[in-house]
Amino acid sequence: TTVGVLKEIKNHEYRVGLTPAGARELTEHGHEVLVETSAGEGAGFADELYTRAGANIVPDAKAVFEGAELLVKVKEPLAQERSQLQPHHTLFTFLHLAPDPDQTRDLLDSGATCIAYETVTDRHGQLPLLAPMSEVAGRLAIQAGAQALEKVCGGRGVLLSGVPGVHPGNVVVIGGGVVGRNAAQLAVGLGARVTVLDRSVPVLRELDQHYRGQITTLYSTRDTLERVLEEADLVVGAVLIPGASAPKLINRELLQVMPEGSALVDVAIDQGGCAETSRATTHDDPTYVVDGVVHYCVANMPGAVARTSTLALTNATLPYVVKLADEGVRRALQSDEGFLPGLNVAQGKLTCEGVAVAQDLEY
Ligand code: NAD
Repeated sequence: TTVGVLKEIKNHEYRVGLTPAGARELTEHGHEVLVETSAGEGAGFADELYTRAGANIVPDAKAVFEGAELLVKVKEPLAQERSQLQPHHTLFTFLHLAPDPDQTRDLLDSGATCIAYETVTDRHGQLPLLAPMSEVAGRLAIQAGAQALEKVCGGRGVLLSGVPGVHPGNVVVIGGGVVGRNAAQLAVGLGARVTVLDRSVPVLRELDQHYRGQITTLYSTRDTLERVLEEADLVVGAVLIPGASAPKLINRELLQVMPEGSALVDVAIDQGGCAETSRATTHDDPTYVVDGVVHYCVANMPGAVARTSTLALTNATLPYVVKLADEGVRRALQSDEGFLPGLNVAQGKLTCEGVAVAQDLEY
């Protein structure tokens, strides 16, 4: 199999889909690896490192699309990339199709096979390829939120840790999954007061047992949400319904109860966001203010720490890339029960229920 690695072209996306160590693994399995020049630069991997791993550097994306069957990326393909997809291509990357009808239509039209990192499952029903990026985003959410609370960003000027004699900040995390747990861990580490809400009692139980009184866990209802938002300095939106759009838990009315200058880091923005007022922002201009609440809604948060993120992501994706290259798409997907749900689009057909429901399409 010829594996192609494209340079990411999305705004401020510095990650890369395959590291030199991954390229070496593939070439040792007898595969050819084509890397677009400077694809790894943003993550600190020069072309030379890929060459040393046995890969071939090619001058542009066109050469990768023309020469490779298996395309490994990080972010969803943009329009100019989608137009180069052919039926013989297998695209393996984050897709996040549910809130994105344009992309869905283009991928269906391309005839290519498209496997989404975010819907691959493991034997516990967890999402092994989303998890490492969620770990990064969850930890980064506290860093970003702490900054959003500073006066220059429109925040209320609260230091999350507090200082001796002054209350620490109040952090509310909605969703106690991977993002939520990592956000909570960092917030606890800073010395903030932390409340985690979830709809799953087992999730709350595990958090409670782990933190032994250091955090408050609450069952998520509209009522509890309203009460905790009244006293929140920083709210982290970390909910997920796999493959579907995020539930809009904070409507305009509920936003009003948040204190003036408080911050909302809506990590779930890549699935449409969990607040009515959330709209995607970029690292260039990450925040905006609605009704006095500073919103941070960067859809590709892990891109800010591209090196850590690339290493974390590729640790998780590499075994699947090797499997696809070694066994071919059909066998690789059939031999692994959890890999198959990763298939979102196959030769003009939609194969992911969540996406179909979100867009009212057939699957
Ligand atoms: P996860 O499945 O591990 O956790 C989601 C949690 O949300 C679950 O525990 C679930 O019970 C809970 N939940 C669902 N509905 C709820 C509700 N109404 N109230 C409270 N909790 C509810 O998912 P995750 O890996 O933590 O990801 C969370 C979100 O962050 C996803 O949308 C993911 O795509 C996104 N994400 C964004 C970025 C970014 O850069 N913006 C990066 C990584 C992940």
